[in-house]
Amino acid sequence: MNRTPLRQLAGPLGLVLAALLCWFAAGAIADRMVQQELAAALGAQRQVTSSIVDNMAEVIASDLALSRAMPSTMAELGAVQDALVAARQYRPDDGKSDAGRRAQLTGVPALAAINRFLHDAQGFSGLDAIWLINANGLCVASSNATSAHPYIGRDMHTRPYFLNTRLGAFTEAYGVGRQTGDPGIFIAAPVYNEGLLVGAVAARMSLSRFRHWVAHPGSFVTDQNGVVIMANDNQLEGHTLPNAPVLTMNPVERVNTYLRDRFPPFEIRSLSADMREQEPWVPSAAAAQLFDMPKHPTPALYESRDGLNSGLSAHLVDPIATWPELRSSHRRDRLLVFLTLVGTVTLTWVITVSWRRELRHHRATRDLAQQLQAANALLAAEARHDALTGALSRRYFLDLLRHEIDRARASGTPLCMAIADLDHFKQINDCYGHAAGDRALEHFVDTCRAELRGSDAVGRLGGEEFGIVLPSTRLAEGIDVMERLRRRFKGSQPAKLPEDIELAVSIGITEYAADDLPERLISRADMALYAAKSAGRDRTEAHAPGDSPPPARTSANASWQA
Ligand code: GH3
Ligand code: MG
Ligand code: MG
Repeated sequence: MNRTPLRQLAGPLGLVLAALLCWFAAGAIADRMVQQELAAALGAQRQVTSSIVDNMAEVIASDLALSRAMPSTMAELGAVQDALVAARQYRPDDGKSDAGRRAQLTGVPALAAINRFLHDAQGFSGLDAIWLINANGLCVASSNATSAHPYIGRDMHTRPYFLNTRLGAFTEAYGVGRQTGDPGIFIAAPVYNEGLLVGAVAARMSLSRFRHWVAHPGSFVTDQNGVVIMANDNQLEGHTLPNAPVLTMNPVERVNTYLRDRFPPFEIRSLSADMREQEPWVPSAAAAQLFDMPKHPTPALYESRDGLNSGLSAHLVDPIATWPELRSSHRRDRLLVFLTLVGTVTLTWVITVSWRRELRHHRATRDLAQQLQAANALLAAEARHDALTGALSRRYFLDLLRHEIDRARASGTPLCMAIADLDHFKQINDCYGHAAGDRALEHFVDTCRAELRGSDAVGRLGGEEFGIVLPSTRLAEGIDVMERLRRRFKGSQPAKLPEDIELAVSIGITEYAADDLPERLISRADMALYAAKSAGRDRTEAHAPGDSPPPARTSANASWQA
């Protein structure tokens, strides 16, 4: 691939790269922004969730506190103990039906009185039922003895609470009523008489009256075996928490307590791993707090309080209310930050490109100005000097002459002006060629430079005619200088000219007189030159200001005149 396509590719590639960089940077910035919002939302919601669960725990504890005291108190009553002693010979395995035993038991006066007592006690205690079970596991008295489905006469020797109580333990546990199928809390206290266990006082509280425990969406209550006994979403009731103890109980025990042997799992799953993959902007500390609950599309906070009365635990799975808003603001923030970054990069790029273009333009303008200055300087130098000989140009020489005249007039110093014209120059051209003529002209100017002072000036008036200004010079001195110049020119033999060439020059000189105009000075010098030519050439003639003019020069000879 050659360089041009590579260069063409570099532009779009750079743009794509810059856009990608902006996109990733926008992602990182949006992550930070939303992470702060998430932390604030989680903090606020954690407080609310905790206070709801605390409140649930308090309500459960206070609801159960009064009721649970009743069986213990009754177990201490002499009447209760006496009733159980009186009924100790009755057995559930006597071959009779429940109704037969009931008739027999209600006929015992001591038990009939205790039935009434239990009925009254149940009325003011708020319990659903109170009953007595003798040491053989037979219900011998109950608060509902006169109801349609009385407990009295029933075989209760396999009830979990009875089995526990027979071992001398106070029992308080969740269970499902055998006959009613109604879930409730069963409380049982052992009853002793003269140190011997004679039975138990049992009581039941139906859970239906405690629905307010799970008034908050996402709340539920589990028993000591990890079974959901009450839930805001009642479809969850009967499900089990992961690793619930109920799963390790033996099946008979399970059926005795719950009247069922199947406990579907209730998955409260940590979203820690899912968040890493699906929402990588969620920090791992926040992700560890998030849980997934079936049927809830948004992640939730999960809190529980264990060890309440009756072995119950309060739970709350509280969906993050601001989750959808957080996700959409993450997307929106990323887009906004991306657009801002792209705008900034574009602006920077435009400014840089404009600045560099301006710089290039400035350099080009400066170079042009320098070139123009150099060209102007060259033109000015060319305008001041004759290109062939390097003598002053005709115009510049005449300016200089005027200037020197002004100075001489102001300072009162003398001034001489001469015109030199090479003799028979036409013949030199004709004999040796035009180039040799040019060399002869150069040579004359070189001779002037060598012979004259730095303050003197030589200008080419035209063709082979030269003007010479000698400031601060009297006419006599000027004539001497011109003679010296003439002789030197004539006697010279420059290497660049043919050996047999004959060089000679005629010079006319004059001196400045007060109030002389330049034209008059030039005219007098020209007349002197004419005189020199007329007198045979190769000489210097002077024309002092007061001299009478010689015969007029022809216009052909006065070619230099301005
Ligand atoms: P005179 O002694 O009377 O001055 O005669 P002359 O031949 O020098 O004068 P004339 O005016 O007849 O001829 C001047 C010649 O100088 C004519 C012209 O071709 C030549 N000439 C003018 N300018 C240049 C120049 O720049 N280079 C060369 N080689 N010749 C030039
Ligand atoms: Mg001439
Ligand atoms: Mg001449």
